[in-house]
Amino acid sequence: MSDPNELTVLNPATEETVATVPAASEEDVAAAVARAVRAQRTWAAVAPADRARLLRRFADVVDARAEELAQLEVREAGHTLGTARWEAGNARDLLLYAAGGAERLLGRQIPAPGGWDVTFHEPLGVVGVIAPWNFPMPIAAWGSFPALAAGNAVVLKPAEATPLTALRLAALALEAGLPEHLFQVLPGYGTTTGRALVDHPDVAKIVFTGSTRTGREVMERCARLVKPVTLELGGKSPNVVFADADLTAALDPFSFLDNSGQDCCARTRVLVQESVLDEARALLADALAAVVVGDPADEKTQMGPLISARQRERVRSYVPDDAPALRGSAPDGPGFWFPPTVLTGERHDSRAAREEIFGPVAVLLPFTDEQDAVRLANDTPYGLSGSIWTRDVGRALRVSQAVRAGNLSVNSHSSVRYWTPFGGFKQSGLGRELGPDALTAFTATKNVFISTEGPAQ
Ligand code: NAD
Repeated sequence: MSDPNELTVLNPATEETVATVPAASEEDVAAAVARAVRAQRTWAAVAPADRARLLRRFADVVDARAEELAQLEVREAGHTLGTARWEAGNARDLLLYAAGGAERLLGRQIPAPGGWDVTFHEPLGVVGVIAPWNFPMPIAAWGSFPALAAGNAVVLKPAEATPLTALRLAALALEAGLPEHLFQVLPGYGTTTGRALVDHPDVAKIVFTGSTRTGREVMERCARLVKPVTLELGGKSPNVVFADADLTAALDPFSFLDNSGQDCCARTRVLVQESVLDEARALLADALAAVVVGDPADEKTQMGPLISARQRERVRSYVPDDAPALRGSAPDGPGFWFPPTVLTGERHDSRAAREEIFGPVAVLLPFTDEQDAVRLANDTPYGLSGSIWTRDVGRALRVSQAVRAGNLSVNSHSSVRYWTPFGGFKQSGLGRELGPDALTAFTATKNVFISTEGPAQ
């Protein structure tokens, strides 16, 4: 039984306790929001260039502590050192990018007879950010930093399993000179702390990243207060590999093994043109056997553990021992290990092929031609990301237009850049984060008409 007043953070690679952290109550949320309301009023009055300067200073502090943050992410989330270092760098880079945005939050001047018409992007007030455990640091940053740059205060609730890097970021913000209570982190449970944040009338917007199921509830609760919401939800993304592709690059297993598959953009439906299916199977078998799974703090490790025993049970439920599959290896003993796996005997409509597993498990499925590939790629309630591999430029363009997903890559498996928009179609989400419009998502447009009529003669 978990203690409602406390969170226990386990190292997923050893099952040892890393820390215990108090869980915020509903009263704690109310008090934090009240403090945030006051902090935001002062912050919104700070000139954009000065806000930018402070955020750049915050970036410098994060940069100076990047290794410490990365090591903390390794311990609390089981991420490999390489991934964790990328995450700390991503938080720093996004701060710098968002800082520039504060100085470029431009309104418009719209021709109108009898006067001047101008628009302003005004901050919303207090933004609530709810983050999952799979990428604790970047996802906390994506929701929070553009919101701060646009003149809002932020109250962030990290996931139960991974509050430590978020708490550290909030401490570093203070060290950098950001005003007190402007960026508060409240660890806690989803059904208490999370719900209290969503339901609070003084929280002007919620940015939620997590499962589609919880996202639906968050949206319903926001609807009661007509509160805007950004939702970054689940995925079951296709990797569409045509016979003419560079098969070795296309079948890079890290397209679904990165972060032990606990990646909303993981390309877990490997759709391969049937004429090269045998070759694909052989390439994947060799690639899985070569994956180095082990201690995430070791620089040579390519894949670490899953986040928890519960998550491992969930993943296991999709992979019966006798399932036809290609399998890599994983350590025995303490830690929430699961071997890299590609299921080869699934049908397109089977549970493993349709549901988000959120572990190092993909399904290999054949398709016949371009039309069939697009049909299969789109036959999912999700639409977050995907890859298309072909040397035929026309086909690459046609298929990338036809696949309904927010983040596609052609002849590449990349998904996330802080300077390009990120978000899902269909049940993968609502709204976009990152990219050139990141700050506008945390503003309300105000239109002001100024009459140029003089006094009546
Ligand atoms: P989750 O939905 O269980 O929890 C996410 C967060 O919501 C946690 O902080 C949790 O405490 C909180 N929460 C839970 N119930 C709540 C409630 N009733 N009200 C308010 N908050 C509540 O998700 P998870 O298991 O932590 O994360 C994994 C999921 O996140 C996967 O489905 C994954 O695809 C998704 N994800 C999506 C993106 C994206 O950008 N689209 C990125 C990362 C993860």
